[in-house]
Amino acid sequence: MRTIGVLTSGGDAPGMNAAIRAVVRGAISNDMRVYGVYDGYYGLLRGDLHEMDVKSVSDVLQRGGTFLRTARCMEMLTEEGVKQAIDKASLFDLDGLVVIGGDGSFRGALALSKQGLRTACVPATIDNDLAYTDWTIGYDTAVNTCVNAINLIRDTSASHGRITVIEVMGRACGDIALAAGVAGGAAYVFIPEVEPNLDVLMKRLDKGRARGKKHNIIIRAEGANIGTDELVNMIANHTQGEVRKVVLGYLQRGGTPTASDRIIASKMGFRAVEVLKGEGNARAIGMHGVEVFDMDLQEAMNMTRIVDTEEIRLMETLAI
Ligand code: ATP
Repeated sequence: MRTIGVLTSGGDAPGMNAAIRAVVRGAISNDMRVYGVYDGYYGLLRGDLHEMDVKSVSDVLQRGGTFLRTARCMEMLTEEGVKQAIDKASLFDLDGLVVIGGDGSFRGALALSKQGLRTACVPATIDNDLAYTDWTIGYDTAVNTCVNAINLIRDTSASHGRITVIEVMGRACGDIALAAGVAGGAAYVFIPEVEPNLDVLMKRLDKGRARGKKHNIIIRAEGANIGTDELVNMIANHTQGEVRKVVLGYLQRGGTPTASDRIIASKMGFRAVEVLKGEGNARAIGMHGVEVFDMDLQEAMNMTRIVDTEEIRLMETLAI
């Protein structure tokens, strides 16, 4: 009987629970024993592993966060830490480990697989910043959370004829900002991948004002090459109007996962089990459109993200 473990690591993302559920139930359905590892690599190093049964993952599908909890674990960056993790894994007879997390967590999995523990990685981060896959778990929910917030802000922004600059997450990746900008009807979106063009923004605001538009929503990704306060001041100076800022912050990481996130989490979690049921090692699970696939982990991590220029063009065209 094969025995596998599952852990969540790095930043939490809505849908991680759905992925854990798919791993646990997928493993049990395939006559495998499965351990849940608490607190990511930190828990693995300490042997905080608990055998899971069907009931262990009852009623978690719709919950945000991760019931296995997550952690950042600096010891994993050392040879000694990796060795300790391998020792603990063999103590529990693990044949393989499913790692649910972002790129850092994947690097941890790679280190473990080089030392003999087979791994399969499921991408979960709201940032959608992994080049090899179209979707990461949590991204769709985060975008929806942003769009809901924009709807609320738009009501008050319109009532007062204000411009509001909304800062969203994404680190070095502009996907959340861009998607929220298209779905939320923003006048301009600042993303890390494209140099800010204030000239275009100001002209757009002037044009809007000339046809009677007093309120505007502007989105700034946290990694964009211009600060939120700087932006607010520049727009206020130019328009001589009221400009507010809203930083959405950690609320973007919470909430019940969307149907789409639950579906991709279920598909990818189950694929990870199938990979470990076979002889797969150091595999990255991903989605191309609605199709799930797996590929070499190192190769997946070597890929470079390309920003969706079509989406930028759409955004720019509709924001005239
Ligand atoms: P997010 O994208 O949401 O931040 P992440 O998985 O990228 O998620 P990190 O904090 O970068 O989050 O990584 C999570 C954990 O993975 C780290 O705390 C560490 O334990 C492990 N890890 C990261 N990089 C390495 C590495 N090079 N070698 C071994 N383990 C690593």
